[in-house]
Amino acid sequence: MSTALELDMPTLVVARIVSIIVFAIAVPIMTLRRDRPETIMFCLALLMAVFSWAAVIPAVLTRNIFLVAIYGGCVTSIIALQWAAVVAMTGRRVHRAWFITPPVSAVAAILLLPITAEQSAIVIAVVLSAQLGAAAVFVLIHGRQVVRPSTAVLLAMGYSVSFVSAMSRPAEAVFLGRIDLYAISGDPSNTWPFFASYIGTTLITLSWLAALKDRAEARLAELAFRDELTGLVNRRALHEGGSKLWHQSMGQGTAFTFVALDLDFFKQVNDRWGHDEGDRVLAAFGATISDAKPKPAIAARMGGEEFCLIYQGADANTVHGFVERLRDEFAAGLRLPDGAPVRFSAGIVQSTDADDGINSLYRRADQTLYEAKASGRDCAIIGLPQQGRAA
Ligand code: GH3
Ligand code: MG
Ligand code: MG
Repeated sequence: MSTALELDMPTLVVARIVSIIVFAIAVPIMTLRRDRPETIMFCLALLMAVFSWAAVIPAVLTRNIFLVAIYGGCVTSIIALQWAAVVAMTGRRVHRAWFITPPVSAVAAILLLPITAEQSAIVIAVVLSAQLGAAAVFVLIHGRQVVRPSTAVLLAMGYSVSFVSAMSRPAEAVFLGRIDLYAISGDPSNTWPFFASYIGTTLITLSWLAALKDRAEARLAELAFRDELTGLVNRRALHEGGSKLWHQSMGQGTAFTFVALDLDFFKQVNDRWGHDEGDRVLAAFGATISDAKPKPAIAARMGGEEFCLIYQGADANTVHGFVERLRDEFAAGLRLPDGAPVRFSAGIVQSTDADDGINSLYRRADQTLYEAKASGRDCAIIGLPQQGRAA
């Protein structure tokens, strides 16, 4: 252990307590929302951190076993609550036993086993290590599905660094025979574990803020790019995603086919059966095209009763077959209250060198759709790339 790191422990402890209090005040102000259980649990964990510091100082000074037990219960509750918050964020059910067991077992072991206040530090460290290790693994496996991978890695690093800090106590006890293991006891060998736990807590709190930001951005993107009624992506998403796919297909020389679809006489559905029935038809059509096999690369609602599909690696004739199958599925799957099916018309175009992107394909597909409407509806027409056009 380098003597250069034999820092003044009381000053470090005060600095750490100040930062914990700042977090416990600032984070709830920034993030707490009563309708979001994960924000409540994380803020409670910060409050618990304040309590655990309030308990550990008298516990270390007096070595009173009850104070040590209170400290053990508080400090293991911090991680229990944080874990509950992370589990809730991933959309999983929070099983109470998982979160109550660590604090209860730490307190019970300290009070019921014939151990000293010094030995209790090892019990607390063992329970904490198990919690921190489990949290690090959970975040690495499941966190990446709900936040950006870099945020999940940062949060997992926070738990891993804290895990190393907590593990160092039982390791010291086993390998060095040292038993005065409280982080604030002033022993120079505690400097590194103290720093590790300081860095760990700070990383966990900061990456939690990043996780909430990631979730908020994902929700906004969902609102900006998805159509609520049908669950399909909207026009904006089709343009952004479609342009990327178009460049990719053109670069690879694979077929890129664009379909414009429009329900036939849809206004009459609304007029005759009401707007709610119209909405039900639109939602059912959305479900039919998003479940279509083969799945289109993009299925979007452009607005009203107009939809677009993009297929990669399938030429216009092949896609014509897909669209005809879609027509049968939709007619079979949805009936109006009088038993009549809802029909649609489609314009299908395949990209060529003459197209300069999604906009020109959409224009051509829309023109072809217009021809399908003009030729009597309930049909799909393939638009030819240049002057000629054929059914
Ligand atoms: P065509 O065969 O020529 O396409 O005739 P149409 O009646 O389907 O076309 P038109 O453009 O005249 O009517 C579209 C209707 O779609 C009018 C509008 O009220 C209805 N509509 C647009 N958006 C919604 C919606 O979100 N819900 C419901 N229920 N109706 C909608
Ligand atoms: Mg229509
Ligand atoms: Mg229309």
